[in-house]
Amino acid sequence: MTDVLDAPAAVKPINHWISGAPYAGTSGRSGPVFNPATGRQSGAVDFATVEEVDRAVQAAKAAFPAWRALSIAKRAEILFAIRELVHERREEIAKHLTAEHGKVLSDAMGEVTRGLEVIEFCCGIPHLLKGGMTEQASTGVDVYSIRQPLGVVAGITPFNFPAMVPMWMWAPAIACGNTFVLKPSEKDPSASVYMAQLLKEAGLPDGVFNVVHGDKVAVDAILDHRDIAAVSFVGSTPIAKYVYETATANGKRCQALGGAKNHMIVLPDADIDMAADAAVSAAYGSAGERCMAVSLLVAVGDVADPLIDAIKARIPNVKVGNGMDASSEMGPLITREHRDKVASYLEDGGGDVLVDGRESCPDDGFFLAPSLIDGLEPGMRAYDDEIFGPVLGVTRVTTYDEAVRLVNENPYGNGTAIFTRDGGVARQFQFDVQAGMVGINVPIPVPVAYYSFGGWKASLFGDRHIYGPEGIDFFTRGKVVTSRWPDPATSTVDLGFPQTR
Ligand code: NAD
Repeated sequence: MTDVLDAPAAVKPINHWISGAPYAGTSGRSGPVFNPATGRQSGAVDFATVEEVDRAVQAAKAAFPAWRALSIAKRAEILFAIRELVHERREEIAKHLTAEHGKVLSDAMGEVTRGLEVIEFCCGIPHLLKGGMTEQASTGVDVYSIRQPLGVVAGITPFNFPAMVPMWMWAPAIACGNTFVLKPSEKDPSASVYMAQLLKEAGLPDGVFNVVHGDKVAVDAILDHRDIAAVSFVGSTPIAKYVYETATANGKRCQALGGAKNHMIVLPDADIDMAADAAVSAAYGSAGERCMAVSLLVAVGDVADPLIDAIKARIPNVKVGNGMDASSEMGPLITREHRDKVASYLEDGGGDVLVDGRESCPDDGFFLAPSLIDGLEPGMRAYDDEIFGPVLGVTRVTTYDEAVRLVNENPYGNGTAIFTRDGGVARQFQFDVQAGMVGINVPIPVPVAYYSFGGWKASLFGDRHIYGPEGIDFFTRGKVVTSRWPDPATSTVDLGFPQTR
């Protein structure tokens, strides 16, 4: 095991970041930050007051006019510098993630890489903000469209991707000319502050990117703040709904991505070993704490028994341990409470527990080893709930139609996947299924950065997906200019409604 961020015995204070510098909170309220692999508290994060959130918003507001006025070429130059620095320090960022979230270092490196892809997409902002132009729309009249930033915008993010999800938000937001206030998860906040330092080092002007930590007080202060034009949220469905309803009632633009219950359908003609490899990787990677994790296998026809055997054969080989240990493949869960809640599904979640992860996990920390439950059906707790842990459920059905109905009747619609060798059925699935992101023989179909990410139904409140082209759209608003330069000598009064000539 490496020592890196585990070393300090003392609890480190984690401050806000306002106007390009750390800002020590004054509320007297803070939250504990743990190393989930040891179970020991490593930090105490400041919880912002309403006034402290306002301070960050005022810093962003003051920085907006100059940032917005900077040429797109210069903004792109800063984004390229950010890309270089984040790439150079990707391992340091990943170590922050492993230390506070618990995910293994290789997985944390993957998180940073997928976030970097969004920054790389945003380096193309000169091209992305190109408008349209029609010359001679009417005689002597030209019409063109431009997109302009909104002003101060905010991001509120979950614990499970402490670097990538903020990057999904701030990279397009600042590329478009907005200034940003981030409220990261209070459970693993250090990566955000480290990223803020990197952005400053890369040349981002002070105040363009700010971080306030905290709980509901900070979130509500953002949702109520009259100077914040838009809120991007990622987290659980009940909070996403609350954030969307409150932000939009307060006149803000909002996209709020929620939870998930991702079904992976396996058809009888699928390659069993490939499907089992995919299911184990997608269910237990990051200890199942991914909104795109596979949490339910829908086994069609006689595929269930051989598929379950293949998964059971693989589970003992998954190395569970401290994420800083290079041999570990799966780390702990985020908190003791969450670990215990996930474990409760093995007690009374329904179905037949085939592999019980409580029996084989490390003693220290918040660990639960991979678990498998057969015979789940709608109405059972382990089927209905987003468990968000390393518990894979299996539901048996007899036909493709039954399998698709299960996906479509589920309240969530984030990701889904089908495993088959039949291209025709796969294409029909893509046509039929009600989910925002679909994998065909791909278990975790997170779109590449130049498409957009988002679910359907209770997995997304709002009408724009995150990052990619829809991210650019979300953080800008359109303006259409109609212009003419006539000879004043031809000017007349005409009270009729303007028509093209
Ligand atoms: P969460 O909803 O508990 O927290 C998300 C954010 O909301 C945090 O910043 C938190 O401080 C804040 N928050 C929590 N309770 C609040 C309250 N009562 N009022 C106001 N703000 C509150 O989510 P989490 O546990 O951090 O993250 C896991 C969840 O996020 C899972 O449901 C997962 O599916 C979801 N998620 C979704 C996506 C997606 O793209 N759809 C991606 C990642 C995670």
